Amino acid sequence: MRRIVYLDNAATTKLSKHAKNAMLPYLEDSYGNPSSVYSFAGDAKNAVEDSRKKIANAVGARPEEIFFTSGGTESDNWAIVSAAELKKEKGKHIITSAIEHPAVMSTLEHLEKKGYEVTYLNVDGYGRISLDGLRKAIRDDTILITIMTANNEIGTIMPVPEIGTVAKENNILFHTDAVQAVGHVRVDVNEMNADMVSFSGHKFGAAKGVGALYVKRGLRLPPLIYGGGQERGRRSGTENVAGIVSMGAALEDITARLPLTNVMRLRDRLIDGVLKNIPRTRLTGDPVNRLPGIASFVFEAVEGESMLLMLDQYGICASSGSACSSGSLDPSHVLLAIGLAHEEAHGSLRFSLSEDNTDGDIDLVIEKLPGIIEKLRRMSPLWNEGK
Ligand SMILES: *Cc1c(COP(=O)(O)O)cnc(C)c1O
Repeated sequence: MRRIVYLDNAATTKLSKHAKNAMLPYLEDSYGNPSSVYSFAGDAKNAVEDSRKKIANAVGARPEEIFFTSGGTESDNWAIVSAAELKKEKGKHIITSAIEHPAVMSTLEHLEKKGYEVTYLNVDGYGRISLDGLRKAIRDDTILITIMTANNEIGTIMPVPEIGTVAKENNILFHTDAVQAVGHVRVDVNEMNADMVSFSGHKFGAAKGVGALYVKRGLRLPPLIYGGGQERGRRSGTENVAGIVSMGAALEDITARLPLTNVMRLRDRLIDGVLKNIPRTRLTGDPVNRLPGIASFVFEAVEGESMLLMLDQYGICASSGSACSSGSLDPSHVLLAIGLAHEEAHGSLRFSLSEDNTDGDIDLVIEKLPGIIEKLRRMSPLWNEGK
């Protein structure tokens, strides 16, 4: 098989060996329904509860505060829609940032159509909201603040504990989409001062299609999904037992190895190598407070999609926030929000690393990318050599 250099771990990760081994029995012999009463099903039920404990442990929560879902998207939808429903008597104003994931953005657009009002806080050039701006946006009818822990395109880590403190002082619910942070940096729900925190297994080595929502004890968040009453009536549907087991195993395993110093070292090698070898290139996102695995750039006068196709010829998998990748012609809302012009935003490229990457992977990108950019620039009408 052709060598694949996988640098798109913010899109999804490989199932870790640890997670795979843990989940296999639940794909084979232990297939009982956790809700059944006979002892054969007890094994599945215990496995689900064991995973809940591991996840709670990893993020400083109590097991009864962890609810399993089908992934980050469902967790975001549930937190936002149900918090809006719960607090609608108090008001219909929600505050978020301009750089949230579509799972949050589209949910808020849905609520806007139902009469809720949303304030989208601007971010600075690094993708950070200002706490002052947040305080000023708060109104008497503000019921929810939803701001991500770390951005998936540019890797910026938000000042979440401080945001949570502002929310608490003003008696406003605080949800954070921590999908890119959990399993990558240390996450503690108490330090975050959060009422709800979204997770997704496949972003840290677990199976796809499983996630969780932390719901702080005492918050009676209504369900989004109704049915047989699983997850103590809050999220019905027969549990994805194998997926849930993989998530507990993956998170326990990786949490023990945080901080991911080798991933950070490789990321910094990649950033240095790209900036040093390719002129008229910028790093996007916060240079200091950034996710350990994300190296994101914009290259003048090149188009993201073309870079991806040329990298693909060397087996290098990366991602671009530019046109087409999402089937739309608009550049990423994140890149526009950090102040890039449309043309600049089209030249974006994101590499996202995992513990599986090696120095050899980084060497290959640093070796091949300058030539790719040079070739594309020579063909570009936007490229002005002498500038
Ligand atoms: C991937 C991602 C999601 C969606 O998670 P899924 O499990 O794929 O539904 C939400 N938010 C962020 C920041 C993400 O990176």
